[in-house]
Formats: sequence, C-alpha cells, structure tokens
Amino acid sequence: SNPLSPLKKINEEIFSYAALKQKEIDELKKLEAFRREFIADVSHELKTPIFAAQGFVHTLLDGAVKDKSVRNKFLKKAAKSLDGLDMLVQDLLTLSQIETGDIKMHFENFDIKMLVEEVFDQFESKAEKKDITLEFGRNVPDEVFVYGDWQRISQVITNLISNSVKYTNEGGKVVVDFLLSKNQVTTTVKDNGDGIPPEDVNRIFQRFYRVDKSRSRERGGTGLGLAIVKHIMEGHNSKVEVKSTVGKGSEFSFKLPRGKKTVISEE
Ligand code: ADP
Repeated sequence: SNPLSPLKKINEEIFSYAALKQKEIDELKKLEAFRREFIADVSHELKTPIFAAQGFVHTLLDGAVKDKSVRNKFLKKAAKSLDGLDMLVQDLLTLSQIETGDIKMHFENFDIKMLVEEVFDQFESKAEKKDITLEFGRNVPDEVFVYGDWQRISQVITNLISNSVKYTNEGGKVVVDFLLSKNQVTTTVKDNGDGIPPEDVNRIFQRFYRVDKSRSRERGGTGLGLAIVKHIMEGHNSKVEVKSTVGKGSEFSFKLPRGKKTVISEE
C-alpha cells in the first residue's frame, strides 16, 4: 500500500475540520449582521412615534396649550403616538420571546371555532365603526377541534382579523372558514379589502415590511403582526399561505392537525 496514505487521511481530516469551523464562523457572522440590522430597524421604528409625541408635547409647551381646541387635539395625537409605541414594544417582546424560545408552546386539543368567536367579539366595536361584518362561512360545523397552542393560535387569528379589519374599507366583510380533511383543518380568514400587490406578497411576513407605511401607521399597525404569525405557525410546523388581489381582497390560511374533542367538566 501507499506509505503516504495515513498522512493523506490526516490531511483530509484537518481540511474537513477547518471547513466545519469556517461554517460556524460564517453562521456567527450572519447572526451578528442580523442582530445589527434588527437593532437598526427597531431604533428607527421607535423613533417615529417618539418623535411625533415629542413634537406635540413641545408645541403645547411652547404656547399651544392656551388654546383649548388645539390643546385637546394635540393631546389626543400625542396619546395616539404613545399607544402606538406601547403596541410596538408589546409586539417586539412577543416576537423576541417566540424567537428565543423563551415561551414554550403548550399543545392541546381545543375548539378553534370558539376561539374565533371570542376574537370576533373583541373586534365587534372596531368593525361596527367601519360597518364591516365579521362572520363564518356557510356550512361551518358547530365545533372544530384542532391540536395546537390555543393562546398562540388566538394571537394568529387576532392578528389576521385585525389586519382584515384594518385594510378593508367601509361596508366590507371578513369571513372565517374551516376546511376539514381527514387529519387536518385549514382555517381561512378572507376579506374583500385593499388586497396586496403581487410584488409585495412574499415580503409582508418580514418584520416591519408594509405595503404602505403611512397607511399602516395611520391604522395602528406595527409592521410586526405577520412576522409574529409566521413564527407561531413555524412553531406548529406549519405555515401561512396568502392569496390576494389588489382591489378585491385577501385570503390568509393555515393548517393545523385535527384535534380530539375535549369535554370541559362542570364540577
Ligand atoms: P401592520 O402592522 O403594518 O399591519 P403586518 O405585519 O400585520 O403589519 O402586515 C404587513 C403588511 O401587510 C401591512 O402593512 C399591509 O400592507 C399588508 N397586509 C396585511 N394584511 C393585509 C390584508 N388583510 N389586506 C391588505 N393588506 C394586508
């Protein structure tokens, strides 16, 4: 045999070890770049509502406070900016907790139809103000049991319905439907709102990506709702699909495993 072959083997091992280390270094570099970009994005997003609130408060202090109607108007605007800031921080916390895995998922069987009913109730007044109806599709069964983390899925449904209400005009409609197959339940949230241009559809799940920044902010958006939705569904080994046509509306859907019916005992 070749007397050099043991050396060759050692050489190969060194090379593969070096390649492994290089891969690790590349991954760390990528993570670091991501972290830096994230901090830049967040700072930028925080600045917007802070800057606005600051402007209103300083204008008030500079004398506008003496005029009663101006005072109320500016205070309301400052409050709106601070509410937006609060929502942004809340969404950031949720996103970071999901991303770092700080919050463990709790999987259980639950009735997703009941959950949607609760979310409908939460949005009733907001929808009523815009004359938007929230309803189930035809032929929806009385109960739809799925297997997942109900608290997280509640957040998914809240974010999707919130978006549908935000981006649908007066007199519109938001319909939730379930499609049951042998092992899976597909939940669909459909609206007849603004729709999303095809070139934006694949980007709306990126944090802070909005089709129309000013419209999103105007309507109380943080740009994080769908990023949170995406992460939660990944935690369920699932994903969100979108079909949308500008001027016609959007349809967001996700799949979950079918769940066993649980009976809540009334003791
Ligand atoms: P935002 O807080 O801006 O609503 P999201 O992450 O929830 O952030 O959504 C990202 C963007 O996707 C929105 O700014 C909007 O442009 C678009 N979008 C999301 N849902 C809908 C919908 N149902 N109809 C039209 N556009 C939507």
